[in-house]
Amino acid sequence: MQFASDNTSGVPDAILDALRAANQGYAMGYGADTYMDALRGRIRALFEAPEAEVFLVSTGSAANAMACASLCPPWGAIYCHRLAHIEVDECGAPEFFTGGAKLTHVAGENGKIDPDALALTLAQSCKGVVHHVQPGLLSLTNLTECGTRYSVAEIAALAEIAHAHGLPVHLDGARFANALVAEGCSPADMTWRAGVDVLCLGGTKNGLFGVEAVIFFNTAQAWEFQLRRKRGGHLPSKHRYLSAQMLAWLEGDLWLNLARNANAMAARLEAGLTEHAQIAYPRGGNMLFATWPRAGHDRLQAVGAQYYLWPDYATFDDPDPIGARLVTSWSTTESDVDHFLTALTGQNALASDRALG
Ligand SMILES: *Cc1c(COP(=O)(O)O)cnc(C)c1O
Repeated sequence: MQFASDNTSGVPDAILDALRAANQGYAMGYGADTYMDALRGRIRALFEAPEAEVFLVSTGSAANAMACASLCPPWGAIYCHRLAHIEVDECGAPEFFTGGAKLTHVAGENGKIDPDALALTLAQSCKGVVHHVQPGLLSLTNLTECGTRYSVAEIAALAEIAHAHGLPVHLDGARFANALVAEGCSPADMTWRAGVDVLCLGGTKNGLFGVEAVIFFNTAQAWEFQLRRKRGGHLPSKHRYLSAQMLAWLEGDLWLNLARNANAMAARLEAGLTEHAQIAYPRGGNMLFATWPRAGHDRLQAVGAQYYLWPDYATFDDPDPIGARLVTSWSTTESDVDHFLTALTGQNALASDRALG
């Protein structure tokens, strides 16, 4: 019963098979491999963006930080939600790689930036005044860090405001596939057509060994990104093992099917939780935040269920109810979910005497 994060899952056999196939013979390094040529073509076709530039790195933090650095000068402001991964989970990497750009919070409910708040923040940004950091970049996350989802229309509205002020738009897509299948739109609709200039497309949490693609729809800064990636120590030498994985992941909609499973298991979990827990945010995909009484946590701990408490400073000694973050993955099964619910509620919902755990 593993609900701590989608990065606790393994990788599907199709990815291992692709790696085994890519392991035959020799391939040029540093992205000059034929898998990368095929992957670039596949991403361009999938996103209906024939000019897009695509680069791979092995962590989402590197992807975000170096994408932000390519889009925002050191004296720029990066507008983001206060719960954004770039703000709270990257140990200052965006500030480090940008050379000191200022992450500036924009308010909004449920982890989503509010368009009026963005418009007001930009109207009051004092552009052109030498004492102030200059408006640099809008950064969104989909799914958000609260497990909620921006609709295509919401992304487009925010991007329009940003572009009207001359700002490019970065989308942290660590869980982009989960957002995409939940929204039921095309990859183009959720990105460049809605005004996204650069997407960090997460593979790791949805079935890959450390592969994230940085996709420049607006290619003006693509060369700068390449230089930053190399200079930052994030250009993989045996690159084929990244490109071959992501190519296999995009084959036959595997990436979408993996995300569909994660989302479906989160929906099953949510349905089972509604009577027994308080759910904090509207579920956008494969992540849930909920609170329930201590006794349920005790039973779950006793059977070895794994999940993070929420907020992240919460402890099992907190007064009732205690919050938890629950994340499902491509490999979560119905029985994982049902066992979890049985332990949480203390009822044998499965009507069986199978051992838990
Ligand atoms: C996991 C995650 C990332 C990437 O994190 P790394 O640990 O650096 O790979 C980026 N953004 C969000 C929203 C995430 O959840």
